[in-house]
Amino acid sequence: MITTQQIQKWITDGELWRFYKTKEWISLKTSVLAAGHYECKICRQQGKITRYDIDEQGRKHLLSTVHHVNHVRSHPELAMSRTYRDPNTNEVKDNLIPVCKACHNKLHPEKRKNNSKKNCYTNVERW
Ligand SMILES: [Zn+2]
Ligand SMILES: [Zn+2]
Repeated sequence: MITTQQIQKWITDGELWRFYKTKEWISLKTSVLAAGHYECKICRQQGKITRYDIDEQGRKHLLSTVHHVNHVRSHPELAMSRTYRDPNTNEVKDNLIPVCKACHNKLHPEKRKNNSKKNCYTNVERW
């Protein structure tokens, strides 16, 4: 079981990557990807179906990224939660969405500026 306290400790220690390596997260992520048919939800909102990421060598990889709508750093209590309740509308919404790497980079502009170019394709989600 991953507790909020454990995640908070990883954040404090600068070791949040450990969260993305846990069996619990990997199995939750796999099930979110499968439930979303490996389609990027952001592309879909724009009428595009994206199921693959293309790496620098032009190779296709089935979608493998799940984004936290409520970022783990600001909402560690929702790190393992598929849904959340919107405090404004009281609606239950998706907290975990399958995304392609291109959309994921756009969702995290705060990360992009510190990222060196060679890190733009990594297989471990770091945020
Ligand atoms: Zn996308
Ligand atoms: Zn994300």
